Amino acid sequence: MDPFAYTRVSDTRAAIAAGRQGGRYIAGGTTLVDLMRETVERPGSLVDISALPLRDITVTPGGGLRIGALVRMADAAADPKVRSTYPVIAESLELSASAQLRNMATIGGNIMQRTRCTYFRDVTANCNKRSPGSGCAALDGINRSHAILGGSDACVATHPSDVAVAFAALEATVRLLGPDGERAVPFAGFLRQPGSTPDREQALRPGELITAVEIPAFPRPLRSGYLKVRDRQSYEFALTSAAIALQVQDGVIRVAKAAAGGVGTVPWKLPAVEQHLLGKRPSDSLWAEAAQRAADGARPLRHNGFKVELLKRTVERQLRVVGGTR
Ligand code: SF4
Repeated sequence: MDPFAYTRVSDTRAAIAAGRQGGRYIAGGTTLVDLMRETVERPGSLVDISALPLRDITVTPGGGLRIGALVRMADAAADPKVRSTYPVIAESLELSASAQLRNMATIGGNIMQRTRCTYFRDVTANCNKRSPGSGCAALDGINRSHAILGGSDACVATHPSDVAVAFAALEATVRLLGPDGERAVPFAGFLRQPGSTPDREQALRPGELITAVEIPAFPRPLRSGYLKVRDRQSYEFALTSAAIALQVQDGVIRVAKAAAGGVGTVPWKLPAVEQHLLGKRPSDSLWAEAAQRAADGARPLRHNGFKVELLKRTVERQLRVVGGTR
């Protein structure tokens, strides 16, 4: 690990001032410290924001939820408001990482976490994300865990977060505070697809800090849930996952929200699946038809072609569970 400066701040103004000067924000540290140990990340200055007052979970005036950026994953998963209104968020958190990590890691840090591409974490490998212009070892390497959606010639790494998939499905908003004040960014635009600049992963301006994630209100009752398929049943990242939310009124689907994880360079919204469901009556055949659209546009690599069919089956199964026809 390289030497670095460390500052602990207790108010957002001081945090942003330090961030503007190039300091990297750190809270739970469950990703960044690992990467610093491996010299994948070499920040010259860390700004510890864990004392900032961003740990509340509140109901918004419209009936949605606001989750503070420094809420621990375990606390968000256990919160009665989260569990009762958006089970998909609680389930995605409970299926993430390990209990120890969930007790340390924060919601803001979770969506900021970096890819698990093994070449990114191997400083001897070519990686455009870690070292722009050096190439991408995964394209011709072992790419079983990589993306089938949203990749480019520069990078095909998946985004590793589970709760980000739930946020994408629910069309959450990321609240930011920076040198120029507050702003809100739709979740779909917050995490960037790699294109030719895979090192630029979020739509953050210099010094900006995530303060909260807001989930909009939906007509009730909204049923939701998260399914994660992985090589082992704990402490493993998704091969595929599905976050589904449905509202059925008078026997007809009025709200359909869906996103997939483990398959995209960002949490992958599934608009074709959603559109196929709206206005129809729940049935096993409807779930199967809709799920066929989950992999629209997929471009498998040499070792991950299996994800196309696995994604469709993951989405179909979770539609059946959430839709109540299981
Ligand atoms: Fe690096 Fe992305 Fe290629 Fe992995 S897929 S080696 S993160 S450029």
